[in-house]
Amino acid sequence: MASAVRPSTYHKHDVVIIGAGGAGLMAAVQLAGIADVAVISKLYPSRSHTGAAQGGICAALGNSEEDHWEWHMFDTVKGGDYLTDQDAAEVLAREAIDAIIELEHMGLPFSRTPDGKIAQRRFGGHTRNFGEGPVMRSCYAADRTGHMILQTLYQQGIKHNLNFFDEFQMLDLLINDGQVCGVVALQIRTGELHIFHSKAVIFATGGFGRCFSVTSNALALTGDGVAIPWRRGVPLEDMEMFQFHPTGIYKLGVLLSEAARGEGGIVINSEGEAFAKRYAPTLADLAPRDMMSRFIYQEVKEGRGVGSGKDGVYLDLRHIPYEVQEAKLPDITEFIRVYLGVDPTKEMALIQPTAHYAMGGIPTDLDGRVLLNNTEVMPGFYAAGECACVSVHGANRLGTNSLVDLVVFGRRAGRHAAEFLRTAELAPLPPNADAFARDQVERLLSKGSGPTEKVGAIRETLQFEMFDKTGVVRNERGMREMLAILDDLKLRYQRVAIDDHTRTFNTDLLEALELGYLLDISECIVAGALGRTESRGAHYRDDYPDRDDQNWLNHTMVWKTSGGLRFDKKPVTITKFQPKERKY
Ligand SMILES: Cc1cc2nc3c(=O)[nH]c(=O)nc-3n(C[C@H](O)[C@H](O)[C@H](O)COP(=O)(O)OP(=O)(O)OC[C@H]3O[C@@H](n4cnc5c(N)ncnc54)[C@H](O)[C@@H]3O)c2cc1C
Repeated sequence: MASAVRPSTYHKHDVVIIGAGGAGLMAAVQLAGIADVAVISKLYPSRSHTGAAQGGICAALGNSEEDHWEWHMFDTVKGGDYLTDQDAAEVLAREAIDAIIELEHMGLPFSRTPDGKIAQRRFGGHTRNFGEGPVMRSCYAADRTGHMILQTLYQQGIKHNLNFFDEFQMLDLLINDGQVCGVVALQIRTGELHIFHSKAVIFATGGFGRCFSVTSNALALTGDGVAIPWRRGVPLEDMEMFQFHPTGIYKLGVLLSEAARGEGGIVINSEGEAFAKRYAPTLADLAPRDMMSRFIYQEVKEGRGVGSGKDGVYLDLRHIPYEVQEAKLPDITEFIRVYLGVDPTKEMALIQPTAHYAMGGIPTDLDGRVLLNNTEVMPGFYAAGECACVSVHGANRLGTNSLVDLVVFGRRAGRHAAEFLRTAELAPLPPNADAFARDQVERLLSKGSGPTEKVGAIRETLQFEMFDKTGVVRNERGMREMLAILDDLKLRYQRVAIDDHTRTFNTDLLEALELGYLLDISECIVAGALGRTESRGAHYRDDYPDRDDQNWLNHTMVWKTSGGLRFDKKPVTITKFQPKERKY
């Protein structure tokens, strides 16, 4: 049959970066002037999800009160329920300080203290003196911090004349004899395939919250860059560790950032009780997200929920003066007005936990090098940001620790890649480099015969069932059901057909491809969650409600093999802080 897709266009660069969010751009900027860099993004760069981050980016600058990187490291480890690799947490906390200053020097317009320093505020789980009480550690630009980071880094990319390939969707990773040598991408505007041949590849493709029905994540967060290497034999780490943020707008999942609680917002049940302090006497509403989400789950379970399904609670901002709301929380209050139709100075906002952040992903070392097993790296292949798992967030990420992860580990990946490129050779392309991507696209574009399935229907079932069975609380029965559902959905996916058979901006085609990634990733999430027979951080099983340090100071690892999923463990790196019970 004649190919429906024209021959691929060939490009050669030293390094190809997939993703133009905070992690990808930070890596790219490090390589400017050193290497020939291509940045490929399925979205226009400034539409990346980093731009949606409201709350802040933390570093122990100590601008508003005493603070130390050791305290930040401790909070990161404790917040991660001791699944955090402590060498990574140390790098994060130490290098955060310098990374923030670097962003400031690039021109990032941070909010300021009266004496002109970068302003800082409180955020859940960040404490002074190893847990004594909240500390002001989160730097911010009003509640548009991520937006400012993204704009600042993108401007740097433009300034340095980096090669941006906007609206190119990567479909495959090219590997020849164990050496990464590029990617294949579809140009969304033309429907044509492009081969990018390079010595190094950096993945910075963000998260995969779209596995769940109620999520804060943008539509594009379908985990492409996590599923694609997995299909090529790279393992995935700690996939069961998915964070649910307590304050999503009811039913919609749109995030009301933790800044709302940082500035004094409190959650309230149907009896008008501010219940968080009953569970977490020291930090109350500033307890970490996994705990807050479970507090809400418990209130709902005990019949104190609100909303049409009695499965939500309220967020109360009424006691925060209008001027403070407008100055410090303008986006949050706007969302409440727009999506819930209420005035936050007069009424409470209806909220529920929303699928928010993937702690797990592609395993990397401290320089962003992708790991094939517990020690062996894949030469030339890097990952950073939410798609990666350097395991700095362990079982639960603290608020404001992702943006800082992007800049610290994005920077390290970029710098290491620059070193690597000094001696690296360009590996030849594998034979028929674009064949796999081409087959996928052609199959979907061809009008097959026989009964067909719709993308939307499969995706809706997947998202609803994942939220229900692999959400805030899990157990073996629900997850076994989920595996059976996944088997059925995967069979149905093989018969998927799309209505649009044209080439230009074929979003039907893209959504069908993305659904394939969501199905693969969901299977890995369930595999990790079933394998981990304990409760820790964001992973709570009511059939194994306790943390089990005897058996589970370990990361989970899953591989795709011809015989199905292979599951293994990897020990946690513990340096300074011995695991203790997590009390707040
Ligand atoms: C609503 C919201 C608020 C948040 N608030 C905060 C906060 O206040 N503080 C904090 O620390 N963290 C926050 N987070 C988390 C944080 O924003 C994200 O973890 C982080 O921005 C992820 O950055 P990234 O660079 O890894 O990926 P992203 O910014 O998501 O970028 C991913 C990039 O990959 C590209 N891409 C993906 N797939 C493909 C493909 N197949 N082909 C080509 N390109 C592809 C996209 O086009 C995009 O450019 C928030 C998250 C959300 C959803």
